[in-house]
Amino acid sequence: MALIVHKYGGTSMGSTERIRNVARRVGKWVRAGHQIVVVPSAMSGETNRLLGLAKELSPAQTTNAVMRELDALAATGEQVSVGLLAIALMNEGLDAVSYAGWQVPIKTDSAYTKARIESIDDQRIRADLAAGRVVIVTGFQGIDGEGRVTTLGRGGSDTSAVAIAAAMKADECLIYTDVDGVYTTDPRVVPEARRLATISFEEMLEMASLGSKVLQIRSVEFAGKYRVPLRVLSSFTDWDIAIDEEARSGTLITFEEAANMEQAVVSGIAFNRDEAKVAVLGVPDKPGVAYRILGAVAEANIDVDMIIQNMSREGKTDFSFTVHRNDYARTLDLLKTQVAPATGAAEVSGDPRICKVSIVGIGMKSHVGVAATMFRTLSEEGINIQMISTSEIKTSVVIDEKYMELAVRALHRAFGLDGEPAAA
Ligand code: ADP
Ligand code: ASP
Ligand code: MG
Repeated sequence: MALIVHKYGGTSMGSTERIRNVARRVGKWVRAGHQIVVVPSAMSGETNRLLGLAKELSPAQTTNAVMRELDALAATGEQVSVGLLAIALMNEGLDAVSYAGWQVPIKTDSAYTKARIESIDDQRIRADLAAGRVVIVTGFQGIDGEGRVTTLGRGGSDTSAVAIAAAMKADECLIYTDVDGVYTTDPRVVPEARRLATISFEEMLEMASLGSKVLQIRSVEFAGKYRVPLRVLSSFTDWDIAIDEEARSGTLITFEEAANMEQAVVSGIAFNRDEAKVAVLGVPDKPGVAYRILGAVAEANIDVDMIIQNMSREGKTDFSFTVHRNDYARTLDLLKTQVAPATGAAEVSGDPRICKVSIVGIGMKSHVGVAATMFRTLSEEGINIQMISTSEIKTSVVIDEKYMELAVRALHRAFGLDGEPAAA
């Protein structure tokens, strides 16, 4: 008997028919003798629908009080899912009970809309499992120190599931989704993308942080910190396929480099269309200038990603960086009204229509010339690179967003990733 956490995403929970399918799949695992905790997301489209309603009422949603209420609102999507799934499980002849995050409780900080899990009390879950029940816990939500409902950021049900698995020292956490594993890149953009039978934790962390939304980055961080065995697999197979076959399917996140037998220099390509570029031009190049620009941005609670400072010419330099596209207008306004006057900058400019494309691979640690291949491939396609950043196992470039698909496909081919799906 094993203790296993199952997570089902929005599409997998997208209709009563699909929920029935989830219930049957869970029932199969329970009847095989396992203890199962299920963490479902809201039904597909529901979180967007709820947040869209709020936006109709209040387009500028930046105050803490509004964000608190957005969380109270968005968390209801998962509340619906756990109730429906519990009913579906009982209809399959299983004993089941559902919990909202606050009932467990899953305690978080108070950073509304992107709260972090601080602790999970698993006592009630354990007692129910011991009594032979399937326990269903809402994804995406928790409760803060003031007793307010919080949410964990978009895609946060992955993190709920892995955090519960970590807290309970579960034997495995299975992330069931609408693709059958982690691919070399988003298979919806590159049909030639290949499923990876395994991916190293480090690579998965980079892929998630660089925009591959198949796993929320914090879920990968949790898996790494607590060594949670983590697998991404399809919820769209027939629910009654053999458990052994299902347990081996999809993509396993591995923690030892040697376990990654695929040995490609570049394992995957990620892209992110959620960023925007801003630049402060002609600032006097003297100590403290980076702090005066980025300090002001940080104070306004705006996260900065890539940063580039040019070599100075005649005592002046240019400063460019990227922010989340939702923060673009606010950042530009801040730079124009506060930073430029304070630093004596000549000009502030920006472009929200950019895309960050990244190549990721552990093999980059030991191979030279990988970035050069990336730049050559892009130049052969006539794609201009606006910004570059590198780390040990990734290289990212910022390009015009209209070339995103072209760039991803060309890089996928150039690094030998096109091909047949990997065997299970
Ligand atoms: P869920 O609702 O199950 O959480 P998500 O939509 O959050 O599902 O994540 C799954 C989606 O992630 C896939 O449908 C796919 O389009 C996208 N995706 C992006 N990059 C990758 C990748 N490298 N491998 C697999 N899927 C990816
Ligand atoms: N329902 C939430 C969202 O749409 C959480 C999740 O799906 O993981 O972001
Ligand atoms: Mg998701």
